[in-house]
Amino acid sequence: MGEQGVREWVERGAQMTADREAATTAMRNKRFDTIAVHGLYGASAAMANQGSIIEPVYLSSAEHFEDSDHLEAALSYEMPAWGYSRIANPTVGYLEATLAMLEGYGFDDGVSAMATSSGMSAVFLATQPFLSIEHGPDANFVTAVKLYGGTYQLFSERYAVERGVDVRWVTDPLDGAEWESLIDEDTRFLYTETPSNPGLAISDLDELSRLADRHEIPLIVDATVASPALTRPLCHGADIVVHSLSKIIGAGGMAIGGALIARHGIRSRLGAEEMTADYATWAKLWPGRDFGPSLSPMNAMFFLNELRSLRHRADKMSVTAMEVSCFLDNHPAVAEVTYPGLSGSRDHGVAKRQMQLVDSKEERYGPMLSFRVSGGEQAAREVFDRFEMIWRATDLGRSKTVAVIPAISTHQQQGESARSVAGVPRDLIRLSVGLEHPEDIITDLGNALNGAALST
Ligand SMILES: *Cc1c(COP(=O)(O)O)cnc(C)c1O
Repeated sequence: MGEQGVREWVERGAQMTADREAATTAMRNKRFDTIAVHGLYGASAAMANQGSIIEPVYLSSAEHFEDSDHLEAALSYEMPAWGYSRIANPTVGYLEATLAMLEGYGFDDGVSAMATSSGMSAVFLATQPFLSIEHGPDANFVTAVKLYGGTYQLFSERYAVERGVDVRWVTDPLDGAEWESLIDEDTRFLYTETPSNPGLAISDLDELSRLADRHEIPLIVDATVASPALTRPLCHGADIVVHSLSKIIGAGGMAIGGALIARHGIRSRLGAEEMTADYATWAKLWPGRDFGPSLSPMNAMFFLNELRSLRHRADKMSVTAMEVSCFLDNHPAVAEVTYPGLSGSRDHGVAKRQMQLVDSKEERYGPMLSFRVSGGEQAAREVFDRFEMIWRATDLGRSKTVAVIPAISTHQQQGESARSVAGVPRDLIRLSVGLEHPEDIITDLGNALNGAALST
């Protein structure tokens, strides 16, 4: 017992790591759907679990250790272990392995993932460590203003107002010169969302990556709306990718969760070697442990199960969203439709380059679109209130079609002027297309538009 015993456990741990790396390499050589279905749960894991062909849900809060040496080796992070479910958990670990492999599909270097209790906690853990005053009192970051409402609030209230961080907003995410003009020596990272929620603005990730390179700062991308089935930002030079798992990845809508996925060796002018070498694992073991936004193993199981069919869902939803966009675009009561798939849209060229269905050459633009009704805010509310099948909910990426008016809900708290810069007018309806038959979605939309038009 003691030093020698601990060393033996560390050696056993090195073997476990080597086995896991071999299994990861083998699985990363397979195709997207295969990875999504199996992840790292194979025959040898199953034999240790009564032969179960489905990943077990380990609800246990803590792991038992064989002796004091094992405890010491594990808790000093010197060997693979999970220890306590706030820090790590085997079921959550299967989800993280699958997410890392899917997000890293087509990307040659190492990738790790950390699952979190929500998309917002993933955004927080992807950004907050870079703002530490340990690296100097003056911190700024440059971000697209076209953001999910919660992220906008985190940046503008929690970071800017409460902590004095200089948040620099880019009004046109496609304007590289605007991004560059805001970067200086105290810039900690670049942040964007593509496509943005709800504005569907597309960012040119290759261009932003060149900027990040030039200034040696990380590029952080929220790719929730696209999912790794349609856009993998690491392949376009991003350092860290953020997801709300609550959306298309968890299309069934039974859990809230998030993930941050980072390539090994992120660009950063600051931070310890262990932070930049494997950001996601570092975030999980240190700030994640201390802030505590861990994902429940039960919710991890829901997401693992949903991931298996992600590509098929992203395909089907995108095809339907394209059909619905064309229908709305041709409807006399609709003033404007925004969908990256519409060839008339300003962002279409970049979207075409960045958004394809993985393992195919098909252009696919995701489940989400937005439209404005002729007649303004009242007309938009009237159409919205007339939906019979389409759910009115602040939700997206669902198997069920949902709609929301962002200006009075998800983007209500940020106020009129911020909404106008972010492009969220009061008459905008955001629609997230589900897996229903397209004709039934179109019928519901058509009835609502026609009915409202008749009564105005
Ligand atoms: C919903 C959403 C989030 C936040 O995710 P939660 O799981 O709700 O915390 C972040 N970014 C985008 C783009 C989203 O749509």
